[in-house]
Amino acid sequence: MIYDEEFETLPREALEALQLKRLKQVVMRAYHTVGFYKRSFDRTGIKPDDIKSLQDLSKLPFTTKQDLRDNYPFGMFAVPMSSIVRLHASSGTTGRPTVVGYTHRDIDTWSELMARCFVAAGVTKTDIIHNAYQYGLFTGGLGVHYGAERLGASVIPISGGNTKRQILILQDFGPTVICCTPSYALNLAEQGRAMGVDMASLRLRVGIFGAEPWSEEMRKQIENELNISALNIYGLSEIMGPGVAMECAEGREGMHIFEDHFIVETIDPETGHNLPPGEKGELVFTTLTKEAFPLIRYRTRDISRLILTPCRCGRTHIRMDRVMGRSDDMLIIRGVNIFPSQIEAILLEVKELEPHYQIIVDREGNLDTLEIQVEVSESFFDQADEVKVLQSLERRIQRDIKDYLGVTAKVKLVEPRTLQRSEGKARRVIDKRRIMA
Ligand code: ADP
Ligand code: ZN
Repeated sequence: MIYDEEFETLPREALEALQLKRLKQVVMRAYHTVGFYKRSFDRTGIKPDDIKSLQDLSKLPFTTKQDLRDNYPFGMFAVPMSSIVRLHASSGTTGRPTVVGYTHRDIDTWSELMARCFVAAGVTKTDIIHNAYQYGLFTGGLGVHYGAERLGASVIPISGGNTKRQILILQDFGPTVICCTPSYALNLAEQGRAMGVDMASLRLRVGIFGAEPWSEEMRKQIENELNISALNIYGLSEIMGPGVAMECAEGREGMHIFEDHFIVETIDPETGHNLPPGEKGELVFTTLTKEAFPLIRYRTRDISRLILTPCRCGRTHIRMDRVMGRSDDMLIIRGVNIFPSQIEAILLEVKELEPHYQIIVDREGNLDTLEIQVEVSESFFDQADEVKVLQSLERRIQRDIKDYLGVTAKVKLVEPRTLQRSEGKARRVIDKRRIMA
């Protein structure tokens, strides 16, 4: 099913013509209404009129997270405060949060795009949606909420946390759709089991998970434990919030980026050069329709790749692969680049382990050290009465990490339910080198 048949299936040529028309408008407006853009365009000697084709986009300077921080809180707004109806902020996962604003029309567009996401996941107005994304400054809760209402489904605005109560609601209200971070979905499944609830026999059938990186292995695990189809949703507050891109139920491979509202590019994060389509790099977004907070060539620091092959669902919008991680989450261990999601993929292949882990990076002398703490399963823990058994499993995992990623890690198995659980975005990495620096 497709929510907006006309715009989601526009033939490439018509889509690009629409993008160009909108791009010219947004560039013109940003230049004349936001001091930052005027200064940054003038510095490179480029004028809005120089944008004559989509290729000309790459002549424009990037906008970075630092630029948003420098203009904190409202310096990047393109409309007066009297036109702003909502403020949100990023979660601040990687530093000081950035603030974003929306006009009435921006909220309207966002709701439409979120409704597209639900329909792409096979959700209809007869569904009941358990929305466990945090409500508040974080865009997840309200973004999903407005989209669900726009579709006409019934929303349970449960927000994050209070996990035991969530289990009761899941049993009593019988929602058919759940939205939250993937790590929280696992947390819920575990809590349910601990309360003696058969989580696989709830009425849930679809999960829409995002806001943090997760692996294909994690998808399998969630699908098994909750007996649902788990789909990936991508977004960031700067560009809009959840609903910038969504995986479709038919394709289940990569998320369609709503290209009538956003232009995506991939660049080499080191050089800033555009990469050939399909190559892995940093995603850069330009918003085409946002009024309050237009962003031109925003560097997301998210690493992914574009999928160019057509999708069987009929949408013409390009897809992006799972986000491997953020460039600022990338660990450099003795010169080797590693993303936490790569470690996760290896750990989740090991059946004796639970999908709860933490990565601790430190430095001893001049050498980086990598320690991976991971919980063993209840059943393995009960059987493993000898230290030898645990040690041999630790060695096996260590070997896998070395073989796949090329680094030596210290693997420390810990008892079930000892690592901290997430209620929103999981904190996977503790980098003690950064704390000391
Ligand atoms: P913050 O950068 O402070 O976490 P946001 O709350 O706006 O701010 O979160 C947006 C970020 O969350 C994205 O830039 C991306 O790193 C991450 N993210 C969102 N959806 C996904 C997803 N489906 N997979 C991986 N990462 C995601
Ligand atoms: Zn599709």
